[in-house]
Amino acid sequence: MFYEDKKLISIVIPCYCEEDALPAFWEEINKTSQNISQADFEFLFVDDGSNDNTINILRKLAHEDKRVRYISFSRNFGKEAAMYAGLKNAKGDYIAIMDADLQDPPSLLPQMLYTLENDGFDCVATRRVTRKGEPAIRSFFARVFYKLINKISKADIVDGARDYRLMKRKMVDAILQLEEYNRFSKGIFGWVGFKTKWLEFENQKRLKGETKWSFRKLLIYSLDGIVAFSSMPLYISSIMGLLFCIIAFFAIIFVIVRQLIWGGSAYGWPSLVCIILMLSGIQLFAIGILGQYLSKTYLEVKKRPIYIVNETDSDNPLTNSVKSIGGSASKETSLPEEG
Ligand code: UDP
Ligand code: MG
Repeated sequence: MFYEDKKLISIVIPCYCEEDALPAFWEEINKTSQNISQADFEFLFVDDGSNDNTINILRKLAHEDKRVRYISFSRNFGKEAAMYAGLKNAKGDYIAIMDADLQDPPSLLPQMLYTLENDGFDCVATRRVTRKGEPAIRSFFARVFYKLINKISKADIVDGARDYRLMKRKMVDAILQLEEYNRFSKGIFGWVGFKTKWLEFENQKRLKGETKWSFRKLLIYSLDGIVAFSSMPLYISSIMGLLFCIIAFFAIIFVIVRQLIWGGSAYGWPSLVCIILMLSGIQLFAIGILGQYLSKTYLEVKKRPIYIVNETDSDNPLTNSVKSIGGSASKETSLPEEG
């Protein structure tokens, strides 16, 4: 039989302390992959410096199934770094990113694959249309964020978009060309373009374990997103400065004219204090905005690696111990280039 046309699908799974969710996830994704006979699969798990049993589960999976590969970081670098590492090391013709907690239903994969192959799209992305099961305050701020960032940046960032998507190799190569340290994938996906079809689904409850995103983390992430994809805050502070200059100019004229007509007035110092306070506050605010951009630039200029690898499936102690006992290299699951 010839399998020349058989495409390879890489599934990239960022995992941070997912020991509870991984067994069920594996069962589910394995089942899905068996139902898709027209493609081969590669499962690339990225252990983002978990401090639980995640790495042992991955070692075991990689040992038992040669479609499974893993990369384990030296510490927690964040989901953005994990996704980047996964995309960089995936070998597939089509590449999907999927959470380990089954909030991104693997059951959508056949439909995504069909759309990619038959409808002329380069990417099939997903968005959740409900935010059921999420605190109301979080949903509210998320909505405000999406409205705001779409107004002030050119990147098309879709409300409710998940990182769960199936992409063709050319789109992944384009994403990898953006080697920035401050990664905001939701913006990057939109920025690189390509024909994207959106699938909608209802929000799924996390299977096991807890979300790793606290409100504070999300807030910082969204501010990072704004700094990464818009210079509008800088414009706003410049315009504010200009506006206050104009107001001050007219105020000076007013004071001079008043002095010439009515003379000798030294009153009004409490209002002066208020004005000084307000203006110095605005100045500090503007400097703060400038500082945000500067600090991001500083990090970029340092050119630090986005992630550091501690172990990959080619170092798998389970496989290697079998090799040394059995004496023959029965399994070949290597990971050539690392970022
Ligand atoms: N994740 C990660 N590194 C982190 C935080 C999260 O790799 O620092 C992974 C996590 O294991 C999961 C995915 O990113 O597979 C989404 O995380 P989570 O479910 O906590 O986020 P939510 O779905 O609540 O947005
Ligand atoms: Mg989740």
